[in-house]
Amino acid sequence: LFITFEGIDGSGKSTQARLLADALGSDTLLTREPGGSPGAEEIRALLLQGDPDRWSAETEILLFTAARRDHLEKTILPALKAHKNVISDRFADSTRIYQGATRGDLRTMVDNLHIQMIGREPDLTFIVDMNPDIALTRGLARNSGEDRFEDMGLEFQRRLRTGFLALADEFSDRCVVIDGHRPIESVAADILSVAKARI
Ligand code: C5P
Repeated sequence: LFITFEGIDGSGKSTQARLLADALGSDTLLTREPGGSPGAEEIRALLLQGDPDRWSAETEILLFTAARRDHLEKTILPALKAHKNVISDRFADSTRIYQGATRGDLRTMVDNLHIQMIGREPDLTFIVDMNPDIALTRGLARNSGEDRFEDMGLEFQRRLRTGFLALADEFSDRCVVIDGHRPIESVAADILSVAKARI
């Protein structure tokens, strides 16, 4: 099964992806985007480092898509072929929502490139829902200063949250919204039971 985790910064999705990978055991590959293959990790560095205006929005989408294509070819598809479960911390939905939230008219470009260059949706997607105001007051939204996307502000995070919830309706066959405001262990237990029911 190909499982993805999506949500805003500070939603706890990366922690939950790791906990699910641990719970599912050795037939599971945990990976992430942008990145997840040597080439895509190099593209990640190009995307995350440097000035905020280093790339235009369009170039950024091309780089995210290039990274995803390499990740898919080199990491995800070979693992699925070897009958592993693959868990990815972010995938195409992040690009739909983040780049769509920057400029709404980019969603069509993201979708067209996805169809032509990626052509694969996850079997199951956990949208870890988190109120960005709460993430901020709880100190969950880290700001390491290493990532040029981190400083986009609370209003942007609120738009992203709305976007992810709308996406869960749009792809309701594969998306499950998980309330991320509860203790880590209860969130993890819910996720594990949904995942086990689908595997
Ligand atoms: O999930 P992670 O923190 O590793 O993501 C790295 C950064 O890239 C985040 O700040 C996220 O907001 C940003 N990002 C983005 N567009 C994507 C995927 C991630 O702006 N499609």
